[in-house]
Amino acid sequence: MLADKDRIFTNVYGFQDWGLKAAQKRGDWDNTKDLIAKGHDSIIDEIKASGLRGRGGAGFPTGMKWSFMPKESKDGRPSFLVINADESEPGSCKDREIIRHDPHKLIEGALVAGFAMRARAAYIYIRGEYIREAETLQAAIDEAYDAGLIGKNASGSGYDFDVFMHRGAGAYICGEETAMIESLEGKKGQPRLKPPFPAGAGLYGCPTTVNNVESIAVVPTILRRGGAWFASFGRENNKGTKLFQISGHVNNPCVVEEAMSITFEELIEKHCGGIRGGWDNLLAVIPGGSSVPLVPGEQIRNAHMDFDGLKELGSGLGTAGVIVMDKSTDIVRAISRISYFYKHESCGQCTPCREGTGWMWRVMERLRVGESSPREIDMLYEVTKQVEGHTICALGDAAAWPIQGLLRHFRPELERRIAERENSVPEAAE
Ligand code: NAD
Ligand code: SF4
Repeated sequence: MLADKDRIFTNVYGFQDWGLKAAQKRGDWDNTKDLIAKGHDSIIDEIKASGLRGRGGAGFPTGMKWSFMPKESKDGRPSFLVINADESEPGSCKDREIIRHDPHKLIEGALVAGFAMRARAAYIYIRGEYIREAETLQAAIDEAYDAGLIGKNASGSGYDFDVFMHRGAGAYICGEETAMIESLEGKKGQPRLKPPFPAGAGLYGCPTTVNNVESIAVVPTILRRGGAWFASFGRENNKGTKLFQISGHVNNPCVVEEAMSITFEELIEKHCGGIRGGWDNLLAVIPGGSSVPLVPGEQIRNAHMDFDGLKELGSGLGTAGVIVMDKSTDIVRAISRISYFYKHESCGQCTPCREGTGWMWRVMERLRVGESSPREIDMLYEVTKQVEGHTICALGDAAAWPIQGLLRHFRPELERRIAERENSVPEAAE
């Protein structure tokens, strides 16, 4: 279990004030000028050494992503950092806690990360529904400006750096990095084809890096304590500490910072008071937010909660939004509800996603009540394969994978419902 002294988010439960003075007492903004004095490239090298991988779900190596940013400005174009606070993945709520209780970690991280990648400013794109969080974040940004920590000669470093907050308007797809960039530019939030990746052509056509809130908020602590310290937690390729968000049928749902690669059992026993009704009552777990396939209860108990451990089980760490479902769950209904979500949130730009998400949801709804045939289960699988990998952004995959997980592990339950309905419907009179 992670020792208290090794926690980065020491105010994640909001026991202390989020404001500047309290944040400074906790160590934030402590000689930020010295962190900046390390220089652009040595900050990036330290982040590479820490093994930090993107905390928004995809797990792309953070230091490597920063190193794609140009060292020299081309045609006088500025570079930008965009921070993704459009946290909308069902099961995910960690960025909300950071912004509520530790906003200065994010703002200081924005300055240091922005400096490392030679960005002129950071835009924090916050989910529209996070109304109170947006108020807190803006107040914290104002405090940082008033104290000279950001803005001209930020923190006395000689570097000018602005931080702007932008509120979203309720579309899940604006959490996709290029849709977010479109939205920031004032356009309809629809993903762009990649490449070019944002580091080549991002916000207003300028070099841009998009990072998740947690990825940025951990940066000052990593630089103060060293990349090797962060890399001492977890396993090879799965380093550091991580905010896990555990919801559903556990005795004590919570958000907790833990060492990467902790086993599922330890995470649940140490922090959540166990599974509701005991381990024998565990049906299935969606370990990384709604975009990843479920894992049956009996398979996940000893799994390492990290990128590789969950990949081995055919799932993923995603955002580490862990949704626990006990045997009272109607698993077909749960996955059908997730299908509805993706159908609703599809931007409609590409045909496999626009048509496929609606089609998949309608079949799921019929399977839920057994109004189908075993052949249609195979057809549903075929449709998920036609959607997966054939769309502009990852929403298509995210809509296909939960259904594939259900078909892989709970096909007998679908067949049982079909048989039950067939047996209950009286045969037509001859
Ligand atoms: P992705 O793998 O396409 O990209 C991840 C990051 O790496 C991006 O910033 C991308 O620009 C960069 N990248 C990837 N390949 C690159 C290359 N060759 N060159 C330069 N940069 C490269 O994934 P994605 O579509 O950004 O994210 C999908 C994930 O988002 C899902 O796995 C899901 O878990 C997560 N998600 C999170 C939320 C949330 O609320 N936090 C919501 C929806 C989805
Ligand atoms: Fe839009 Fe879906 Fe295509 Fe993504 S996959 S661009 S959400 S239609």
